[in-house]
Amino acid sequence: MASPTKRLQSHSRADKEGQNIQVFVRCRPLNESEKAQRSYSVVDTPNSREITVKEKQSSSLTKTFQFDKVFGIKSKQLDVYRSVVEPLIGQVMQGYNCTVFAYGQTGTGKTFTMEGGDGRDDPNLTWENDPTAGIIPRALAQLFDELRLQKEAEFSVRVSFLELYNEELFDLLSGESDLTKLRLYEDSARKGSVIIQGLEEVQVHSKKEVYDILEKGSKKRQTAATLMNAHSSRSHTVFTVTVHMKESSNGDGEEVLRIGKLNLVDLAGSENVGRSGAIDKRAREAGNINQSLLTLGRVITCLVERTPHIPYRESKLTRLLQDSLGGRTKTSIIATVSPAGINLEETLSTLDYAHRAKNITDRKSTRLNSSHPRYL
Ligand code: ADP
Ligand code: MG
Repeated sequence: MASPTKRLQSHSRADKEGQNIQVFVRCRPLNESEKAQRSYSVVDTPNSREITVKEKQSSSLTKTFQFDKVFGIKSKQLDVYRSVVEPLIGQVMQGYNCTVFAYGQTGTGKTFTMEGGDGRDDPNLTWENDPTAGIIPRALAQLFDELRLQKEAEFSVRVSFLELYNEELFDLLSGESDLTKLRLYEDSARKGSVIIQGLEEVQVHSKKEVYDILEKGSKKRQTAATLMNAHSSRSHTVFTVTVHMKESSNGDGEEVLRIGKLNLVDLAGSENVGRSGAIDKRAREAGNINQSLLTLGRVITCLVERTPHIPYRESKLTRLLQDSLGGRTKTSIIATVSPAGINLEETLSTLDYAHRAKNITDRKSTRLNSSHPRYL
């Protein structure tokens, strides 16, 4: 059948408010180690949009930040999913690209939020009733449920899972001991897109397969870290779901192909970016400069400020996500923090970073007088 196929892809769709970056914060409960160190909570979430931080444990000096939504220590995986990702699935099915980042200090719940907790180790739970299931399995489940309802369309769902460490790309779904560095090059057929040579794109047929894929990827992330003598807190992972949908449009025999993408990104620990934003001298000496984390911050700043040049090309992460970041696509950031006083500096740093992503436009007029260094 040689009916013409029209290709629609990530066309422009400005949000009603013209704001395509949504910023969320999630605070996890105090953990055992924080309790053992007798560290108390300095974070409070008085309502669903605000988070307050006590700047000194003993004093009443607090700092308040506002976000699109704040998830307190009692928030459930399902709450986070419903607010952040559920509204994106329909858009992906329409052919838009969406990206969700988890940003925060190591140990604050980025991987827990994205992939999930240890519920999957419990033989009595199927993953569908696992309350600790994270965004990735829930997103695939919703996607399959909704695709099944589209009786008129043919569809396919593919996933890839890659890791970016020290500006090198690795495939988490290829053989376990395969540490081939993947090459990234521009797609000459599609401006702004890149091709990752040799990247495994696994076709997924049902939501049941998702846990195996996640398991395989997480296991490989650990072995790879050991083999490379690396720290997983310094690597980023990008889980990408690509949906192809083919629909015949009414009457004219033309088919429409829609391609949408959902990128779920678990970023390296934010302690790698100093609070001043400039690269910390110690970090530099230790060779800890995280080019991708720094560039992502700059790219987001440029997007929010609508500057004409966006420095996508300055890091692998932003090159990789170039077609999924920017005016035509939806970007969400979930900043994760610890409530403990011992993590106060990192918590403030994370909240500052996240807050800038939201409010740079508002600050524009006062920027020249601002004493804050601009580092996002
Ligand atoms: P990160 O990926 O940011 O380094 P993890 O997701 O690995 O952090 O979380 C560190 C630990 O804290 C894990 O044992 C995780 O299960 C637990 N944890 C994180 N967030 C929560 C939460 N919201 N509720 C309960 N436990 C959490
Ligand atoms: Mg992690």
